[in-house]
This record gives sequence, C-alpha cells and structure tokens, in this order.
Amino acid sequence: MIPLAFSAPGQFWRGNLHCHSTHSDGVLDPEEVCHRYRAEGYDFLCLSDHFTGQFDYPITDTSGFRTKAFTTLIGAELHSGAMQNGDLWHILAVGLPQDFARPDAPDFRAHPGQESGPDIARRARDAGAFVVIAHPQWSGLTLDDALSMDAAHAVEAYNYECEVSSQRGDGFHLADLMLSEGRQITLTASDDAHFKLEDHFGGWVRVKAKDNTPDALLAALKSGAYYSSQGPDLHHIELRGAKLVVHCSDAVAIIVQGHGSATRAVHAERLTSAELPVERFRGGGWLRVTVVDDKGRKAWSNPIWL
Ligand SMILES: [Zn+2]
Ligand SMILES: [Zn+2]
Repeated sequence: MIPLAFSAPGQFWRGNLHCHSTHSDGVLDPEEVCHRYRAEGYDFLCLSDHFTGQFDYPITDTSGFRTKAFTTLIGAELHSGAMQNGDLWHILAVGLPQDFARPDAPDFRAHPGQESGPDIARRARDAGAFVVIAHPQWSGLTLDDALSMDAAHAVEAYNYECEVSSQRGDGFHLADLMLSEGRQITLTASDDAHFKLEDHFGGWVRVKAKDNTPDALLAALKSGAYYSSQGPDLHHIELRGAKLVVHCSDAVAIIVQGHGSATRAVHAERLTSAELPVERFRGGGWLRVTVVDDKGRKAWSNPIWL
C-alpha cells in the first residue's frame, strides 16, 4: 500500500494554506503577500483573511496575482460560534466561493445565537472548500470541540505564527486523539503569517498533483495527497507487508507514531531511508510518519489507515 501522496500521478507543489493581509489584520497588502511567497519559491498560496464584520467579510480575490509558475487558492478563515471555553471558533476554508454567505460574526468574540462553528464549517465544505480546524492548541480546543467538527477534512497540526508568538503551534496531540477516535482527518502545516513577526516561511504543505492549478490542488488536498513540512522532504512511503518503508531527504530520525503510546523510531547521524515494523500499530488502526533533520526541522506524513 502506497499513500496517495506517493502514488498519485504528478509532482509536489509547495504552498501555504493560511495567511492574512491588510484585508483583515495582516500588515501587507494582498499583492505584496503573494509577491513574498512567490519570491520565496512557493508554487501556490491561499490568502485566508478573517471573515468577520469588522473587516467587511473579506474573501480576498488573489486571482490577479497568479503567474505561469504561481497560483492562488481563494479562501478565508471563518469565525462563528463558541468553543467549549467560550472563545470564538477559527476555521480555515481553502477553496471558498466568493459568494459564500456571511454569518453574523461582527468581531473576534463569540455571541449568543450565532451560527455554530460546526455549522459554518459544514456550509463551507458543502460550498466546495477544504476545511481545516485551525491552530487547536492556540485556541484551547478540546477533543469534544474537535469531534463536533464533523465537516473538517484536516487539523492544522503545525501553525508557525502560533509557535513564534505563543509557543502554541501544536495540533498533533489533538489530531492523534481524533485519529484514535476513528476520525479520518489529515494534517496540515501552515504559516498563518500576518508579517508582524518572523511568522512566514516556517510551515508548508507539499501537494501532489498533475498541474499547479487551483482545481487540481484543491482536489489533491481533499484526497489527502500531500504532506507537511518545516524543511525536510518525504520522497516515498510504502506499507510493504509487516514493514513501513520511508525514503526522505537527509534526516537524523525517522519516527512512526500511532494510537496511544505506540511509536517506533530509527536514529542515526545521517538517514535517507528506514524500514520500521508496523505490528505495534495494527491494533490502533492508524500510523503516521515524522522525519527530523539535523536542524530539528520536521516533515510529517498524513495518517495511514491499517
Ligand atoms: Zn486564527
Ligand atoms: Zn489565521
């Protein structure tokens, strides 16, 4: 069994799914944000301004900043309803139509009677979006919150801005719990760049698709044909009988994680591949791969169901 990211036809396209411009609380205008990512060598970007009343509900149109080698997905960060802790939901919607109906979300506070987070997420998914539970650690999201979000395709497992600003960039803990509850979610890494801090070019996805077009990228994201990274590359992952085979760029550790305390790891001064036994993971039903390079930067596969 070879996961879609490594078996689907095409090539990997590097992109950031989450960032902000002057259309909400970012400091650069949309053209400049697109320019910065293009100049950094990214293949695509989703500008995801805050879809609230104080910013007049922007779904920022970045289509004018596409070039032959760089494309954009249209999206927004949606907000409506309270999480268990009383704070407002943050939900990333990548591939959102411009006429997506507004909630009654005037500002960054949750208000009684608002559309719930799970409801606006379902509307976004029905409208064609790839829906991601944004920065769960930063939000203080509970497992009950996460499980209520039945329309989510993915969890933002690493948010660079939240790591830099708050040391709360993690989403893997929650994602692992969701996976162990049988939720077939995938995992994203993104910048959530506002360009107020050094909050850009720290986490991205590499999406496998034939063409670097919005439709092809969106379909690949929804199918799980991608992986996430801070630096290292995943070249190949394959479940071969009782072993998991991993090929990657230069690494010092290749680690497999699964249900509960299940992990397996190979460490060395320089690794570009490993074979790890999967027996330990069979009972839990899933595993995922993390690769660590000599600078401590990581790449993360999507979950593999056993
Ligand atoms: Zn947010
Ligand atoms: Zn954001």
